[in-house]
Formats: sequence, C-alpha cells, structure tokens
Amino acid sequence: AYLAYIFQPKIMDNTQTKIIVVGSLSQDMVLCVNYLPTPGETIIASDFKIGLGGKGNNQAIAASRSGVSTYFIGNIGSDEAGKLLKQSLIANCVHTECLYTDSNYGTGLAFITITPDGNNSIIIAPQANNNLKPELIEKSSYIFSGRYILLLQLETPIETSLTAAKIAFSQKQPIILNPAPAAKQLPKELLEIVDFFIPNQSETQILTGIEVTDFNSAKIAAQKLKSLGPKNIIITMGDIGVYALTDDNQEIIKTAYKVSAIDTVAAGDAFCGAFAAHYSQYNSIEPAIDYASCAGALATTKTGAVDSLPYKSEILDYLEKMAKIK
Ligand code: ADP
Repeated sequence: AYLAYIFQPKIMDNTQTKIIVVGSLSQDMVLCVNYLPTPGETIIASDFKIGLGGKGNNQAIAASRSGVSTYFIGNIGSDEAGKLLKQSLIANCVHTECLYTDSNYGTGLAFITITPDGNNSIIIAPQANNNLKPELIEKSSYIFSGRYILLLQLETPIETSLTAAKIAFSQKQPIILNPAPAAKQLPKELLEIVDFFIPNQSETQILTGIEVTDFNSAKIAAQKLKSLGPKNIIITMGDIGVYALTDDNQEIIKTAYKVSAIDTVAAGDAFCGAFAAHYSQYNSIEPAIDYASCAGALATTKTGAVDSLPYKSEILDYLEKMAKIK
C-alpha cells in the first residue's frame, strides 16, 4: 500500500513527460588534505582523485537514473574533460544533442579540498559554463515541446536560465529552481515564474537571513521565500529532512531516512533530479518529496558525486524495505 502511495496511478494522460536540464558540468579535482593551507603556505595532499560533477550534470544523471527521458543543455570545452563528461551523460542515457562545445573556453573545473573531519572547501573555475549564453537556449528551442519539466540551478548564467524559464512558462510547463550555489538575490522575473524552489539550509539562510535549524525555523523561512514569488517552496535540511510549503499553503514535513552517511556530496543533486523525475510522472508533490528524500539519503551512503546517485530500482528497494519495517 505504501508503494502504491508513492507510485499512485497517473493523474494526467499517458503522454510521456521529459526533463530538460539547463546547467553546468565540471571536472572535479579532489584533494584530500590534513588541514587547509593558510595564505602563503604550501602543503602536500594525502590523496588526489578526478571525478565528474557540476550541479546540472549531477541532477540530469539523477533524473535519468529514475527512468525519465532527460535532455541536457550545457556547454563544455573541446578537451578531454569535456569528452569524459559527454561520454558519461550518454552512458547514463541523457540526451546530449544540445550539449555544446565551446571553442574559446575549456570545460569547467572544481577544485575540492577535503579535510579529515569531512569538511570540504570548493573553488570553481566556471570556464565554458559561464559561456552558456541565451543564444544556446534559442538554438535548443526545438526540444522545448510536448510535456516537460525544466530543471535549473545557479552554476550557469542567470540570463540563460531566465530565457529557458520564459519559454517553459509560456508553454505552461513546470519550472524547478535549485538556487545553488547560494545567491543573496535572484531576479524577481525568474522567482515569479518558478513552480518549485528547492534550496538547502544554507541557501535558505543567505536568501532570507533566517537560520534554518528545525522545522519551525524552516516554516518561517519558507513563508519568506514564498513571498518572493515561487509557488512551492521545498527546503532540504540534510539529516533533518525536508520542509515544504505548497502553493495552497499546505505544509509537508518529512523527516530524513536513517542511513549511515559517509559522504554527503551530491545529496541535494540526487534530491532535485529524483524530485523532477517523480513529479514529471505523477504530478503529486508529497510522494515526489518522499521519493526524492530517499534518493538524497541513499546518495550519502556512497562516495563521490555521480557515483553516489541512486537508480530508481535502488530507491524502490529501499522504500519497500522501509514499508515492511513500518
Ligand atoms: P545539499 O546536498 O544541497 O546540501 P541536503 O544536505 O539538504 O542538500 O540533502 C538533500 C536531501 O537528502 C535532504 O533533504 C534529505 O532528504 C537527504 N539527506 C541528506 N543528507 C542526509 C543524511 N545524512 N541522512 C539522511 N538523509 C539525508
């Protein structure tokens, strides 16, 4: 019965819905260090790994792994990193005909340092991601057809996201904005047409000035975010869970699934991709939040970004296991 609730019969017709992600891709340079260097200091890393990431890339793969046809609009350099990212998207069944190759900029890079206490500091060199111009949305406009969900983050130029959002809005298709990395202010024009606004605790604090530590403070922050324009607010709160305030002012409170978290990288990306995938098929917020919070929890049980993103079968197995325990 629990799974029937998560996967209720389709409310809409059977027209296949797809997901369009407009966003970033990057090669992650991960440095494990004993401590962060102070200015002027040189230190030796204890380990080094190269991974694939970028919030757009991660969220597209997360959505595709939940079995929904996913299209990516992005910009890479004509280099080895770009090739690897494209191959990885293709291997994950993401459509890449609107993944463009820039002749002036290299692929985006993220330099990540991780200390033994698990804290990470990140420096991003956006490169080609910053050159994802609105013209590339116009060039990709042929994929904005039929039923789709538009999924956006803040690692590519805001005017490009706005161009895509305006098309989706004019075609009455839902828009999801994950306002990450954190921004103090966002264009009103964009916020007013967003259907689902999905910040984490720190992004919420930077936008509202309210420190989100529990569901009560999340409620106050969500009300403030809603007054900025988005229809539905979904605040992800790590191992606390999720607080959502819907368009018709319903509260949805979901405590986190209890897992042994080893690496929280990409939990938010897993959540956003899985939420978009589930909502695109069932058009129902609460079951989509439940499914997505399971995806976020499972992502913390594996290391890495793309490597930790769960498949639909893993999410369903876990939900089924939880339903039996209940
Ligand atoms: P971000 O990665 O953007 O900071 P969060 O940490 O809020 O995002 O994680 C997104 C969602 O993933 C959470 O709302 C929660 O449902 C799930 N999640 C994240 N961390 C954990 C955890 N340690 N245990 C269980 N669920 C988690």
